Amino acid sequence: MPLFKLTQAILPLCIIASTLSWPVSGETDQSTQTQKAAPPAVTPILDKKQAGFYRMKLGKVDLIALSDGSMHFSVAGITVNDKPGEVDRLLASQYETSPTNLSFNAYLIHLGTRWILIDAGSSDLVGPTVGKLPDSLRAAGVRPEEVSDIFITHLHPDHVGGITADKKKVFPNATIHVNKNESDFWLNKEQEAKSPDTIKMFFKPAQDSVRPYAETGKLETFVDTVEFFPGLRSQPAYGHTPGHTFYVLEDGGQKIVFIGDMIHIPSAQFDNPEIAMNFDYDSKNAVKVRQQLLADAAKNSYQIAGAHLPFPGAGHVRQEGSHFRWIPVAYINDAVEK
Ligand SMILES: [Zn+2]
Repeated sequence: MPLFKLTQAILPLCIIASTLSWPVSGETDQSTQTQKAAPPAVTPILDKKQAGFYRMKLGKVDLIALSDGSMHFSVAGITVNDKPGEVDRLLASQYETSPTNLSFNAYLIHLGTRWILIDAGSSDLVGPTVGKLPDSLRAAGVRPEEVSDIFITHLHPDHVGGITADKKKVFPNATIHVNKNESDFWLNKEQEAKSPDTIKMFFKPAQDSVRPYAETGKLETFVDTVEFFPGLRSQPAYGHTPGHTFYVLEDGGQKIVFIGDMIHIPSAQFDNPEIAMNFDYDSKNAVKVRQQLLADAAKNSYQIAGAHLPFPGAGHVRQEGSHFRWIPVAYINDAVEK
């Protein structure tokens, strides 16, 4: 399917939800959807790419945030459980307006001899300002061929789309790991047929993305909580999608939880975790998962890392009454050349 045709089909629900137009220009010309090769108007803030990786340590484990890019994100009309004007007020309190800037992050872990990815970006499924993960990976000094395992938080195209390009594997030696609830739902033709049109459009990108791996026995599913390797395990976080999953990494007494799509609007959802997206599969459970994880991360002082938190997307959380405050990681660049 042509890039922008699919993009415009996916973005409304996956990222842009109820806004049917490409949100970057702020225009709402729906006639562009019927123009064949006309890409959506994009007015990036930057005219040059910049570094797309950030090295961190968790205990002795190398952990590298990889940027897939960023994109303007219109939040108008995509939230539920919020009071009138609340989201705009919270954005304004952080010097933001809609459309905000949405980061798309994945994480690379060097665990023993393995190079492990948590999520894989979007390839060409989401838009021209994202799909940069392979560039970011190479910039960090790792070739796609070296990646051994990819743990997918959920099968939306901005998380799984990056494993495949032009129907071929981007990571030829990797095994894809995904929660069974997630694969049972999105890879099921019967489920696809009976789903409403608003959801139906997610199925084909998920199926196309995993196909080269499934056909070669490199798609593995798991149930609930599994320790895959010493220090790395899954944690069920069902709500945003049927099998949405967190991954927990621990080493040397430190812990980080990769939270996938638990937060889409940091400026609003840390302050009020009850605010949910109208494209959550089950917003009630998504809220519950968010409240529990934020409270637990604050209480136990561990880090979280989010696919859509401002790059590099890792940091701590502090609880202040029923609100939470996001405390991003400090910038560290103190390596010495040997
Ligand atoms: Zn996402």
